[in-house]
Amino acid sequence: MTERQAANAMLLKHWQGKTLPVDPFYIAAAEGIPCRSLSFENLSASGWYKIEDGRPVIEYNPTEPLLRQRFTVAHELGHHLLGHGSRPRDSSQAMMGSRDLVETAANRFAAELLMPAGSVQMLVVDHGIVDIGTLANYFQVSESAMTYRLRNLGHI
Ligand SMILES: [Zn+2]
Repeated sequence: MTERQAANAMLLKHWQGKTLPVDPFYIAAAEGIPCRSLSFENLSASGWYKIEDGRPVIEYNPTEPLLRQRFTVAHELGHHLLGHGSRPRDSSQAMMGSRDLVETAANRFAAELLMPAGSVQMLVVDHGIVDIGTLANYFQVSESAMTYRLRNLGHI
């Protein structure tokens, strides 16, 4: 299953008929995966996907900006759905600049989930919205994540 297929399956299952922005906390919970804050000693990380007592858990950093937390939870959900198993803690550097195939796959999943191709297409092509800040606001993602996504989808 590709990252796009995995993300679309989640959107179909838990987000059908719902409006933007996509809420990754809601989707993870609906998928039966608890999301909670990283413990104090782990706050140097951005997130963590781990198996605890045989059950998947997602942890995120509540001291980071909300847009960052949203991306992190989507990224960690990607680790779960793409079958990556328990992972080392994710630093923000490891998540954004990584060339690790597993990390880039989780990032691709997060982008597909938070900025569904169909919704991007609708806003950019049908409604002619091309301002990065406006689009990032619709999807509640950072401007850099939005720029990257638009480039990937061939809109810029
Ligand atoms: Zn990761």
